[in-house]
Amino acid sequence: MSKPKVGVFGFAGCGGCQLEILNLEEQLVDFIKAVDIVNFTEAITEHSDTYEIALIEGSVSTNHDLEKLEHISKIAKIIIAVGACACTGGLNCLKNLYGLEKAKELVYGDKKDWIDAIETKPIDAYVKVDYYARGCPPTRSEIVDIVKSLIVGKKPEIPNYPVCIECKRLGNTCLYEYGLSCFGPVARAGCNARCPSSKSGCEACRGYIDQPNINAQKDLLSRYGLTVEDIMEGFNLYNACKNNVLKK
Ligand code: SF4
Ligand code: SF4
Ligand code: SF4
Repeated sequence: MSKPKVGVFGFAGCGGCQLEILNLEEQLVDFIKAVDIVNFTEAITEHSDTYEIALIEGSVSTNHDLEKLEHISKIAKIIIAVGACACTGGLNCLKNLYGLEKAKELVYGDKKDWIDAIETKPIDAYVKVDYYARGCPPTRSEIVDIVKSLIVGKKPEIPNYPVCIECKRLGNTCLYEYGLSCFGPVARAGCNARCPSSKSGCEACRGYIDQPNINAQKDLLSRYGLTVEDIMEGFNLYNACKNNVLKK
């Protein structure tokens, strides 16, 4: 059986997600044995317009990105968004909070009209995304699990429960007890509560779960004398492009 052809592409982002794929270490050899990588922005110079699976890092921030994404979507049978920038728009969406013209002016001054920039959006704003490997960066094992599942015809298992569940399973003391804030009640698990376990509040880099229990987050906040507005800045870090569920 021929190996599925895979293209790894990068849009607006830091390149860290592609680096995670390159850093798969012992899993990299298995990964390369299982698929035929025909495009990889950060790793190879060869290029092909024949691939079945596209792994896409980064958000769409220019007209050029958009043209390239539409080209990829016409070729790939399966699109996997890799990392927060691709899945939710990620940090790049902070630009939108200023308004496009103001953001361009702040960065490029009187050269702003030379710049091909559009409002930043996650890739599913333009094309159908089949699977999401979330996080900033995503966990390496999740990227591999998604691709491996597709190869054997299984649906990848992506957690759809909150970070609080992983955090409590680990026996952590809730960060609110230390006067910190955390989006664990609405953020999607799968990182093994990476941040709360290091005494750092979850900023929902994996986005939020499909049906977040907004009241649980609000109840938690009010128990500690906080409101949604008090913590909104943190939530915007990775999710400014998505509707803000907490404001419902
Ligand atoms: S999701 Fe994070 S690691 Fe990946 S490209 Fe964006 S900023 Fe970089
Ligand atoms: S709110 Fe944060 S620190 Fe508290 S239990 Fe949930 S994930 Fe853990
Ligand atoms: S704890 Fe939250 S911010 Fe940290 S890696 Fe997990 S989802 Fe991302």
